[in-house]
Amino acid sequence: MLNVEHLHKRYGDLEVVRDVSFHVPEGQCFGLLGPNGAGKTTTLRCCLGLTQPDAGTITLVGLPVPQKAREARMRVGVVPQFDNLDPDFTVTENLIVYGRYFGLSRRECEARVERLLDFAGLADKAHARIEALSGGMKRRLTLARAMINDPQVLFMDEPTTGLDPQARHLVWDRLKALVTQGRTIVLTTHFMDEAQRLCDRVAIMDHGVLITEEAPRPLIEREIEPVVIEVYGDGVEDWFQAHGKALSSRAELAGDTAFCYCNDPEPLLKTLEGQNELRALRRAANLEDVFLKLTGRDLRD
Ligand code: ADP
Repeated sequence: MLNVEHLHKRYGDLEVVRDVSFHVPEGQCFGLLGPNGAGKTTTLRCCLGLTQPDAGTITLVGLPVPQKAREARMRVGVVPQFDNLDPDFTVTENLIVYGRYFGLSRRECEARVERLLDFAGLADKAHARIEALSGGMKRRLTLARAMINDPQVLFMDEPTTGLDPQARHLVWDRLKALVTQGRTIVLTTHFMDEAQRLCDRVAIMDHGVLITEEAPRPLIEREIEPVVIEVYGDGVEDWFQAHGKALSSRAELAGDTAFCYCNDPEPLLKTLEGQNELRALRRAANLEDVFLKLTGRDLRD
C-alpha cells in the first residue's frame, strides 16, 4: 500500500529526512514514532505528495508520488492532528461537503453518512452542530469524514492526542475494526502504549533517520531485558549507587526514579526488602523503554 525508498528532504542546511525507507503492506497498522522534530510529519507529507522530496521514490496505493499524488489521494483518508471540522455545518453536512471534494454525488454521500455515523458512534448526533460535540466526538467525526471516500489507506497524525481515556479507548476500538476489515493505517503517535496496542509494525525515527522498523513484540524482546524495576522515594540515589547499578543488566537514574532493566530481578528486589522509604514497581519491558533507549531521555523542543 505504501513503499518508501531512500527518501531525502532538506530545509536549508538541515536534512530533516535522511535516507528513509519502509514498506506498509495491505491490512496492517504501521506506526511512525519519534520525538518532536524527528521528521515524521515531513515524511508523511512527502508520502501524500504535499511536500516535494529532494530524492527517493514513493509508491502509494500502487501509484508513484508525487507524480500521481492527486490520484493516489482520492483513495486515501487523512485524519489531521487537529480537527478541522467546519463549525458552520452540522455533523451530517460536514460529511457530505467533504465527500463532494472527492467527486461523490450528494446522493452517494447521503447513502454513506448513516453507516459512517454508526461506525463513529454518532448516530444520535447527525444534526448536531460541531460546537455541541465533545473532543472525543469531534475526533470520531474526523475519522468518519476521512472514511467518506472508502479509502484503502488511512493516514492519522496523533489520532488520540488530547482525548480522555474513555475516548481514546473508543478510537482504538474503531481503528482496530478498520484493520480487521482489511484497511491499512499509517499513524504517528507519542503514546507508546497506543503504538504497542495498535501497530503491526513500528518505525522509530530520530534526527531524520529511521533507526529501526519492526513488530513491537520482537523489537521489545531484542532491545530490552524482560523485567523492569522502577524505584523511587527518599534515598533512591544512594540505593541506586549501592545496588541498582550493580544488580541490573542496565540501569539509569532519571529525575527521582531509578529504572533497572533485569534478566533476573530477584537479587535486586532482595536489596529493597526493609527499605520502607523506597517504593518499587515491577513490570514487563514495553515499547516506551525501547523508544527511550533508542532516542534518549533528553527533552526535545
Ligand atoms: P516531527 O513531525 O517528527 O515532529 P517534522 O517533520 O515536523 O518533525 O520536522 C522535522 C524538522 O524539519 C524540524 O526541525 C522542523 O523544524 C523542520 N521543518 C519542518 N517543516 C519545515 C518547513 N516547512 N520549513 C523549514 N523547516 C521545517
